[in-house]
Amino acid sequence: MPHPSDTASDQDWADSLSPDRRSLITGSLIGASALASAAWSGPASAATAGEVLTPAATVGIPSGQPGAALPLRPSTFSGKSEWGYHTAAQPTPRPVSVRTGEEQLPTHPRPYTDIKSYHAHIYFDEDSHHKASLLRRWVAERFDVELGDWNLTPRGPHVTPSFYFGFQNELLPVVIPWLQLNSLGLTILIHPNSDNARSDHLYYALWVNRSQPVNAYSMKAVDDSIEVFTNTQPTVRIET
Ligand code: ZN
Repeated sequence: MPHPSDTASDQDWADSLSPDRRSLITGSLIGASALASAAWSGPASAATAGEVLTPAATVGIPSGQPGAALPLRPSTFSGKSEWGYHTAAQPTPRPVSVRTGEEQLPTHPRPYTDIKSYHAHIYFDEDSHHKASLLRRWVAERFDVELGDWNLTPRGPHVTPSFYFGFQNELLPVVIPWLQLNSLGLTILIHPNSDNARSDHLYYALWVNRSQPVNAYSMKAVDDSIEVFTNTQPTVRIET
């Protein structure tokens, strides 16, 4: 059974046709619409435009509630919302700033020397894991980095499969252009490790290719526990 709003959509399409074409099909279209309206049953079909149904005619909303407005069609839901029936009337709150040190305009820039090291997180999925595997091998063969495990499910703030490698600041001028040219199209998050894991992930990040959500709101605002210890033994000279 078509939803009543489908008829309006059909009419829009009909209106966009040429007058000749429209006159050809108008008869059948209107006929179908009339049939559809007639077939539509329930409290709403009994109401004409502008008529206000009594609260008792609504379904799923207790009668007498101020918010019990006329539904476009009767709801089949008969439970009770855990949020009550007045959420639409709530005032709009102002979110609290979580940008550490930026709750108000800072008076001085933050020293870039706060950055102790970097992470590169490489994201992939079931269709791109071969690319991730090749990139991972290339990195391990060429760079003194801390290479992490494969994460085949979301881990920490990372919402898709990923692996990461950490590196010292000195490698940044090489790693960034190297990843730009060798990302294989994968999404890569490069974030600094200052003393603020949340801001490091949410606000100080660089991305190679598209960005994707990072679920870091619950990370500590102050966390200086992240260190990078290299664990690879490069055997290949970086191509230049
Ligand atoms: Zn990281």
